[in-house]
Amino acid sequence: MSASRPVRDGLFRDCGDGTARLLGARCADCARYHFPRAEVCPYCSCDSCSAADLGPRGRLWLYTAVLRPPPGYRGVVPFGFGVVDLEEGVRIVARLTEGDPARLRSGQPMLLVVEHLHDDDGTRVETYAFAAAEEG
Ligand SMILES: [Zn+2]
Repeated sequence: MSASRPVRDGLFRDCGDGTARLLGARCADCARYHFPRAEVCPYCSCDSCSAADLGPRGRLWLYTAVLRPPPGYRGVVPFGFGVVDLEEGVRIVARLTEGDPARLRSGQPMLLVVEHLHDDDGTRVETYAFAAAEEG
């Protein structure tokens, strides 16, 4: 695999098997998870959250297709974009690997995966996206 870097540090980790985990946190007081990772809980303001990896499984809630490339984007269009509810109870807005909305449905199982794109200067970068997964 050629060298690539995360599109941004501190958001996710590549598990090496094609899947990714989001770098989130869990509150010691209210026990809720959040993303991105922060020391202070966004729900109860408790300041003793601990690091927790989130994913890779979730269910698709909302979705659409992006038909025109955003500025600087060199990847294919259309690409999918949607909202996925992770098993940990965190709702994530993210890229979808499926660009045809007719092949998606609400409630569909999704898997968090690593996706390779290119930065503005052509540098290969990796990011996370959700791919349709098998039921169960
Ligand atoms: Zn909390």
